[in-house]
Amino acid sequence: AEVAKPCISFAHFGFEDSLLAVIRKLEFTEPSGIQKQAVPIALEGRDIIGIAKTGSGKTAAFVWPMLIHIMDQPELDRGDGPIGLILAPTRELAHQIHTEAKRFGKAYGLKTAVVYGGANKREQFLELRNGGVEILVATPGRLIDMIKMKATNLRRVTYLVLDEADRMFDLGFEPQVRSICDNIRPDRQTQTKLPSKALLFSATFQKKVERLARQVMTDPIRINIGGVGNSNEDITQSIEVLPDDTYKWDWLMSHLVPFTLEGSVIIFISRKEGVDELAKNLQNNGFECGALHGDLMQHERDKVLRDFKQNKFPALVATDVAARGLDIKSVRNVVNYDIARDIDSHVHRIGRTGRAGEKGTAYTLITSKEDRFAGELVRNLEQSSQPVPKSLMDLAMS
Ligand code: ADP
Ligand code: MG
Repeated sequence: AEVAKPCISFAHFGFEDSLLAVIRKLEFTEPSGIQKQAVPIALEGRDIIGIAKTGSGKTAAFVWPMLIHIMDQPELDRGDGPIGLILAPTRELAHQIHTEAKRFGKAYGLKTAVVYGGANKREQFLELRNGGVEILVATPGRLIDMIKMKATNLRRVTYLVLDEADRMFDLGFEPQVRSICDNIRPDRQTQTKLPSKALLFSATFQKKVERLARQVMTDPIRINIGGVGNSNEDITQSIEVLPDDTYKWDWLMSHLVPFTLEGSVIIFISRKEGVDELAKNLQNNGFECGALHGDLMQHERDKVLRDFKQNKFPALVATDVAARGLDIKSVRNVVNYDIARDIDSHVHRIGRTGRAGEKGTAYTLITSKEDRFAGELVRNLEQSSQPVPKSLMDLAMS
């Protein structure tokens, strides 16, 4: 079937002047690749699987058409639940998407709310109960809690987005996503259990995830900018092959000061305990840093991330809870102090830098014990036009 042609400039999207003004104020000069393609297709009402590199503006690609879709609803002023629903795998990402959706939604006078776990349930309940929310951003578990508490309902939802969709399925949110889909427009369940529009976005998308995803979509259009699972080429990747783990600390000590002169740095660690330990060691050595992982209280997580975004300290030590979607302007360097659990996770971690056309560098510390990952890393580097150091090649061949 024919699908809408890409739009090359903001003027052709059919946005209201008020939205164009917000976009201008943000100094976006032209739509990104995924925006050019996805916006017209979403406006046509098609389901989309959108795959584009980290930092390429996927959020706006699903938020902008959502606004137009909502404005087109005949019952806009009459219902009580949201019309647009965005699900995200982590609390921090839900919060960030909410900030962005609110900024654009305001241009149309739309009200946006966010609910996620660990935050005040009563406040979230009251905000939804008060009504008037047209756009809801949520993590799946807390949304289901809210539905059970009858804070809101999803009967009006006709535009559903799963951001970082593959991670949602990875984390085992599939039953929750299904249960949420079952709550969407039950009046239409006889015809279809699906919302009229479902959009899934990520930079990575394994085949097995796509099979799952297609069950919540109708005849989706697949948009693929720059290959599935490839790293953003604005990120220079440097691979540091070390004899063993004991060399990592010295490596970090000799690099951290130069990094902080360039901007902020995120250091990824596999385990929560490891995060606390490294953060403490850094602080004991006079480096100001924050720690972020899933065992902290949500108010601590919020504070660390807020302070990091405001450059109150230059380094953040984190688990993969910070790997997906977070957009922090000042991050110039990313360090994989421990290698990622798989190559997709690697792509997302390093994607915390090199965003919106900016340059960044990612350092991956790898030891000779990690020869399985070495092979995947070689492929990732080659696909992203990065040099492959001989020491890594040797490790991959060993
Ligand atoms: P992704 O979800 O693809 O990783 P984001 O949606 O988080 O990327 O966007 C990355 C950054 O790019 C954000 O700071 C966003 O405000 C900015 N951005 C989005 N669209 C544009 C554009 N057309 N021009 C310039 N910057 C943009
Ligand atoms: Mg994103």
